[in-house]
Parts: sequence; C-alpha cells; structure tokens
Amino acid sequence: MRKIAIYGKGGIGKSTTTQNTVAGLAEMGRKVMVVGCDPKADSTRLLLGGLAQRSVLDTLREEGEDVDLEDIRRLGFSGIICVESGGPEPGVGCAGRGIITSINLLEQLGAYADSEKLDYAFYDVLGDVVCGGFAMPIREGKAKEIYIVVSGEMMAMYAANNICKGIVKFAEAGGVRLGGLICNSRKVENEEEMIQALAVKLGTQMIHFIPRDNIVQRAEIHRKTVIDYDSGHPQADEYRTLAKKIEANTMHVIPKPMSTDELESLLIEYGLAG
Ligand code: ATP
Ligand code: MG
Repeated sequence: MRKIAIYGKGGIGKSTTTQNTVAGLAEMGRKVMVVGCDPKADSTRLLLGGLAQRSVLDTLREEGEDVDLEDIRRLGFSGIICVESGGPEPGVGCAGRGIITSINLLEQLGAYADSEKLDYAFYDVLGDVVCGGFAMPIREGKAKEIYIVVSGEMMAMYAANNICKGIVKFAEAGGVRLGGLICNSRKVENEEEMIQALAVKLGTQMIHFIPRDNIVQRAEIHRKTVIDYDSGHPQADEYRTLAKKIEANTMHVIPKPMSTDELESLLIEYGLAG
C-alpha cells in the first residue's frame, strides 16, 4: 500500500485535487482510502455527496474508546473508503494530535490490514508544516510519499518551499520522500514554466499541470468530483492523467529547499520582470 499525503498552502485546492485524483484511481480499479486531516472535515465531501456526518474525534468523544471501524468510515464514490479525523474543540488541544489519534485508531481497528487490500491511503492535510501539528503524518511516518499542490502565486510557492523544509527535517529518520509538485493553475503568466523551474530547483518534478476550469466548482456545488459529475469533460481527463502519473511515479526524493533570495529570483525571472 502506498501512503500519500497532499500538502499545500490553504485554499490552493488540496481537497478538490485529492478527491478528483482518487476518483481516477478508483476508476482504474484501485482500492483507496482517503483520510481527511483537517478540522473542517471537508476532505471527503465530493466522494460522499455531502459532509461526513461524524468525524473520528466526534465519535471518540461521544462513544468513548469502544469504537468499530464501521463507525468511523463511510463508502464513497466507486467504493472509496472515506474517513474524517475532525478536530479538537476550537481553541483547545492540538489538531495535529487529533490526526495521529485518528490514524492510530484506524491502525488498531485493522483499516490497513492485509485483508482490506488497500492500494492507497491518501491524507489530505490542512495548511503548511509551519505548525508542528500538521507535520505529524510525516513526522510519525504515517505518510511516506508527499505531493505538494502549488500555483504560480508567490505565497503558494513560498508555502511549497516551506513544506520542503519540513520534509527534509523528517526524511532521514522517517523515510518520507517528495513525489512531486502538482500545479493547480491560477492562470498566472508563465505559470507552467515557472513551476517546472521551481520543481527543478527543489530537486523534484512537476508531476502534472491541472488547468483552472469552472467545471470543478460546478461539480463541487453538486457535491461531486468532476469524474462523477461530468465524466466526459476534458477536466476529468486531467485528473485521470494525474492518477496514472502518480501510479507510475518512481521519483521519490529528499527535496532541496531554496533560500528566500533564490525563490524571489525565480519569481522575478519568470513572472515579475515583465
Ligand atoms: P483548505 O486549505 O482550506 O483545506 P484546499 O487547499 O483543500 O483548502 P479546496 O477546498 O480543494 O482547497 O479548493 C478551494 C476552491 O478552489 C474550491 O472551491 C475548489 O472548487 C476550487 N478549485 C480547486 N481546484 C480548481 C481548479 N483546477 N479549477 C477551478 N477551481 C478549482
Ligand atoms: Mg482542504
């Protein structure tokens, strides 16, 4: 089983991209579990046709330790297993701890056992790794392969570089590796070339360039992935292509984060000079 975590700046498109991509993997016949690691608990909405009723932490709070696997996971689009970690009550406790509690519980209850025959576990992780809590899935070795969602906007690239710093920190001890950058386009000038150049500087690859298209939001309003909502749309094929590329990917690296000066030079070279 491959354990994959999706990181990236807030609002960049992690949850959308994760769900659309796993829909592509499910179409290919793969058995996938998605674990939402975000107190918003919206990582599986497009797969379940609505927000999950109860998160793992809610269930633990309400039922105590005596929890069954079926209390915390739901079957979504095309047999995808959906879990939402949830979060602590606002202002109380560390959300990162909640994530680890959830993953540990899934392990204890046998969600990753051989009999389940999972091909992939995907973790959709909130925010960037600046807060220690959100580095938990990498720190604890729960996720081994990271993809960073990025765009040509400066803050998204800045966050991607920071996430790389976080990966480096835990790579030697925990074995986590970067699988690539996913460019989720914001229609910035020279975006594809710039993210390709960023990937090279970071010692990785831009695994796919996803165009920006309103069909993504239209499908979202209907609580569906594009693959589910409009299977024949070209955007659905973009996600299918990304799914195939992830499946075939063998480029797993320890990234080389850039200095802020280097990052700014790159932005000037590709974007801001003209
Ligand atoms: P958060 O950090 O808050 O969890 P996120 O990174 O998970 O955010 P999403 O919720 O997936 O981001 O996406 C934010 C918005 O961007 C959504 O409304 C989504 O529909 C839209 N979006 C994502 N990708 C695309 C795309 N390729 N084309 C058009 N809209 C997109
Ligand atoms: Mg999200």
